[in-house]
Amino acid sequence: MRIDVLTLFPELFDSFEEWSIIGRAIEKGIFTLNKIDIRDFSKDKHKRVDDYPYGGGPGMVMRPEPIYDAISSVKKDNSIVIYLSPQGKNYNQELANILAEKEHLILLCGHYEGVDNRIMEHYIDMEISIGDYILTGGEIPAMVLIDSIVRLLPGALGNRESIVNESHYDGLLEYPQYTRPRTFNKISVPDILLSGNHKKIEEWRRYKAIETTYIKRPELLDKRLLTKEEKEILKDIKQKLKDKN
Ligand code: SAM
Repeated sequence: MRIDVLTLFPELFDSFEEWSIIGRAIEKGIFTLNKIDIRDFSKDKHKRVDDYPYGGGPGMVMRPEPIYDAISSVKKDNSIVIYLSPQGKNYNQELANILAEKEHLILLCGHYEGVDNRIMEHYIDMEISIGDYILTGGEIPAMVLIDSIVRLLPGALGNRESIVNESHYDGLLEYPQYTRPRTFNKISVPDILLSGNHKKIEEWRRYKAIETTYIKRPELLDKRLLTKEEKEILKDIKQKLKDKN
């Protein structure tokens, strides 16, 4: 996979691209990150890329020509052009899974009041928001997309199993995790995890994943088709919680 990031602040990605799983994925040739400075496409002698909004109002707007030229410099038939925007579709694991299947993504990071709307209307395939709040620029959202996508690329993680168990991968939150010491501040690790019985551990984890989801994010269970066995587990969880209260 290749990702081109169009930004006014390419230097923000310098340490990001060397970091942890991202750095290793680049080193292994699993993915390529190409940073493009939109300012390089400005025809203005002062390299300006923004201008006052038509109709007045506060702030500045990114001009369309440098953005169009930056997109055109890397766009191919298989490219998906994404504008990181608070007005976009809310980002989630499902969308990360879809994007991880693509060959080439172009991520456009806005700044100031955003980009000229003609870019959005005619040259963007998808607008994606990382949440209902306003950030200063699209660079942090772009990093969020890149990190969540690269983890899914074959070979990026040492153990692919950790992806499928992780929260949100299959619509559930992850089961509780514990490590050494066995007892900490007089609080012990659940006995089952020390039993060596892998089948029972698997069952316990399934139960706990459903329980954790029901307690922390019950709305996720409404969106997920539960198997007959999972429905039984959920019934049991609800009964136990009722008995406790
Ligand atoms: N005036 C714009 C609006 O109200 O929709 C917000 C502009 S914001 C200050 C500057 C840039 O940050 C945006 O163009 C976008 O690229 C990025 N951005 C801000 N919040 C974001 C979010 N929640 N998700 C994705 N990108 C965001």
